[in-house]
Amino acid sequence: MKEVDVFIIGAGPAGSIAGAKLVQDGYSVKIVDKLKMPRFVIGESLLPRCNELLENANMLQSVVDAKFQLKGGVVFQNDTDEPSFLDFSNNLGQKWGSSFQVKREVFDKLLIDDAAAKGCDVEYEIEVIAYDEDANIITVKDLDSNKEQYKAKKVLDASGYGRVLPNLLGLHADSHLALRRATFARVDNDIRPEGVKEGYIFVTVHGDNEAWIWNIPFSDGTTSVGIVCTEEYFKSFKMSDKEFWEHIIYSNKWTKERYKNSNYTVDVNSLSGYSSAVTKLYDKNFILTGNASEFLDPVFSSGVTLALESGAKAAELTSRELKGENIDYKVEYEDYMMLGIDVFRDYVNTWYDGTLQTILFSDKKNPEVTKKIVSILSGYVWDENNSFVTSSKYALEKTYEVLK
Ligand SMILES: Cc1cc2nc3c(=O)[nH]c(=O)nc-3n(C[C@H](O)[C@H](O)[C@H](O)COP(=O)(O)OP(=O)(O)OC[C@H]3O[C@@H](n4cnc5c(N)ncnc54)[C@H](O)[C@@H]3O)c2cc1C
Repeated sequence: MKEVDVFIIGAGPAGSIAGAKLVQDGYSVKIVDKLKMPRFVIGESLLPRCNELLENANMLQSVVDAKFQLKGGVVFQNDTDEPSFLDFSNNLGQKWGSSFQVKREVFDKLLIDDAAAKGCDVEYEIEVIAYDEDANIITVKDLDSNKEQYKAKKVLDASGYGRVLPNLLGLHADSHLALRRATFARVDNDIRPEGVKEGYIFVTVHGDNEAWIWNIPFSDGTTSVGIVCTEEYFKSFKMSDKEFWEHIIYSNKWTKERYKNSNYTVDVNSLSGYSSAVTKLYDKNFILTGNASEFLDPVFSSGVTLALESGAKAAELTSRELKGENIDYKVEYEDYMMLGIDVFRDYVNTWYDGTLQTILFSDKKNPEVTKKIVSILSGYVWDENNSFVTSSKYALEKTYEVLK
């Protein structure tokens, strides 16, 4: 049996940032992924908070050097109101007022290569298949079904949609979010706005809020276009994924114009039932990070931010524990992570019930309220100086009452 300080399951953003931070603190780190990089994963639009987290882990420079599409903000569109442009630099004074639109197969490889260059021992096509929680022993197998065991001082689960420890230890909980599906493709030749808004994510409400469409432009001229709706709405059309995608995109007043000259560069695909929750985020020997813990909804592009935040936080606490400090994971990890997750949850719920859309499309918002909302949509959901963080539901309800 091999021994290692920290064993990390999964080489996505959560695993990479955690590993990179831990090796820089002097610990031995093993990261395994059941796939080989580059691999496709959905989730291409980042928030400014990601830049801050990557900078703190000494991982931002390689991302900047890769010349991803700069993302300066978000535009909300619907059938009736004027589009609502939110500029990420109009925040509450936070340093990072922009981020990037990234093809995840490129971005994730870049991060894990950086983690490996910093000293992580990274191995691909190695799948975690069993976990002895009391002894903290992980069993892996390779493509030929050869098995190996690792004993670790701490295990971080960063397995994303694989949800390895929640599956092995029975930690799943109800996410309380409606069953939704995403139907998505990549295309070329879209008609983009000129200037700095070229890189904004456009979030297009379809019909009477039955669906919304993400428009994520990449620096190579291609664009990711996805439709999110409930399963019932999709099924009511009795169409294949591709027929549905084309029907919605070419009937919506905004997207039919934007994509009128486009061809597929990646064919239509779909994902369903991605929202998830867990009964706990940690125990004595392990910590759940990123999508292996909780995933809400794609609408505010919060997934990679939460993956990086939780990976970085898990690494920081593990590092302090391995130095001999007594860590209160309930306060420093679970309560901390849930603060940010719960703010995003309020935004997701009020997006779908229409409250937040009324606020976003109103031209009567006062500038201070706009800054607070921009700050949250930039991923600064731990900023306790922002009253829209500390009492997010109340602040949204009160703002709605004034603006409706
Ligand atoms: C429709 C949709 C759209 C989204 N859009 C956005 C967006 O625009 N912006 C955004 O920030 N987020 C978005 N997300 C969320 C984003 O996809 C995730 O939050 C993010 O990928 C989580 O990163 P991670 O590091 O936790 O996991 P992942 O990136 O999923 O990485 C996990 C890794 O673990 C590996 N693994 C799994 N099982 C095992 C195993 N048994 N053994 C070893 N390795 C294993 C996998 O191969 C994978 O490489 C979206 C999600 C959905 C569903």
